[in-house]
Amino acid sequence: MNVNDNELHDDGFRDSLTTVNKDGSRKWVYAVQPKGKFYALRTYVSWIYLAIFFIIPFIKINGIPFLQFNVLEQRFIIFGKIFTPDDFFIFAVGMITFMVFIVLFTVIYGRIFCGWVCPQTIFMEMVFRKVEYWIEGSANDQKLLDKSPWNINKILRRGGKHIAFFLLSFIIANTFLSYIIGVDTLITYVTEPVTQHLALLTGVLIFTFIFYVVYAFVREVVCTVICPYGRLQSVLTDKDTVVVAYDYVRGEQRGKFKKNTDRTESGLGDCIDCHQCVVVCPTGIDIRNGTQMECTNCTACIDACDFMMEKVNLPKGLIRYTSENNIAKGKKLTYTLRMKAYTVVLVLLVAFMSFLLITRDNIDAHIIRSSGQLYADMGNNLANFYEIKVVNKTNNPIPITLQLEGINGELKMLGTDKIFDVDGLKQKDAKFIILINKHDIKARKTELKISIYNNNEKITTIKTNFLGPFM
Ligand code: SF4
Ligand code: SF4
Repeated sequence: MNVNDNELHDDGFRDSLTTVNKDGSRKWVYAVQPKGKFYALRTYVSWIYLAIFFIIPFIKINGIPFLQFNVLEQRFIIFGKIFTPDDFFIFAVGMITFMVFIVLFTVIYGRIFCGWVCPQTIFMEMVFRKVEYWIEGSANDQKLLDKSPWNINKILRRGGKHIAFFLLSFIIANTFLSYIIGVDTLITYVTEPVTQHLALLTGVLIFTFIFYVVYAFVREVVCTVICPYGRLQSVLTDKDTVVVAYDYVRGEQRGKFKKNTDRTESGLGDCIDCHQCVVVCPTGIDIRNGTQMECTNCTACIDACDFMMEKVNLPKGLIRYTSENNIAKGKKLTYTLRMKAYTVVLVLLVAFMSFLLITRDNIDAHIIRSSGQLYADMGNNLANFYEIKVVNKTNNPIPITLQLEGINGELKMLGTDKIFDVDGLKQKDAKFIILINKHDIKARKTELKISIYNNNEKITTIKTNFLGPFM
């Protein structure tokens, strides 16, 4: 019997959200705080996660931030390497690699990302909800507080919670901002008179307000309705995907626990219908209805069920990480053809991405022939005019020299020194002329190689053409 086909149970979950009342109003989820192995593990993971999140903006490599996503100046820094719009190709490959990784990961492990490392889950379950338990008490206390009339206790607790939520949102908004403009700039802005940075303050307050609204009011709706990744689950997972699932083969027919009663003889399965898996669920669903899009695989129901199984002396794992095929057919977790195919694509993309990153230059240069005159007759020599654009993708100035290679001739910079500096994170445009003896020009179009040097180190070689008269 498939739990989804079980006619004995209410099928209402199929066409309605468990968090919406019949009249369309919101049904608030008062999630009971889980206790158990998985919750403890997730707590440790969240500590590491939060430490990394708050420390990263302060980490620098050779004076360059470790990570920065400066969309305002169109500059991303990843692992201390600066990426500009010129690196769009690398960025696009990186995004595709990331998407394939997410798809592959989801095909094999379901929504493990949502339950363990999604920022929404970490901040909601491991920060804001814990603050809520601390100020307003358990899920039951919160329910009672909601129903109670406004008195000093309610004002202090509700007010305290919302002030704490707003302050936390303010800290998170500032940290996010430091990922965009850099922590040094942020500190400068914060220490200068606020009137000088009203636009920035407005931005911070808008983000603070958004975070506050999300964690104080929107909450699980982000996962159950808004998040596109959640909506993709039905096409990414299959019956071999590992998900948090209720073992309906073992659990059904569910029935209340009665001491000294043989459940098998009574035709009962191991589910004692205690609803503990439901009351801990932060998205308000009943995992016994089968895999649902609202399930973030947070493992709270595993802990709750294991606790109850232990209490009634039944084996743990009635709800566990497993696949539908494992529950229904006892089939071991397998590495399917689809998983293999995704893995091959992912390995190829990662290899290509690594190649692009390793071979990526700190200098980007483009040479074009100046528009107008094709060539100039200078007596013994012919001359062609060129323009060069050099982009420095490091933080420091780089001295540049151009050198003509593979042919006798002379390269003269126009309006700038032979060695010219390109400032950090800037583009320099320069003009130059190439003179070649007429006797060395054997065709209308001669291919030239111009190398770009940083001191004596060759950075790159660019090909261009030298035009002469028709031969
Ligand atoms: S069903 Fe279980 S794993 Fe899924 S969201 Fe609810 S508590 Fe978390
Ligand atoms: S916690 Fe376990 S035993 Fe209790 S209702 Fe849920 S699945 Fe059944």
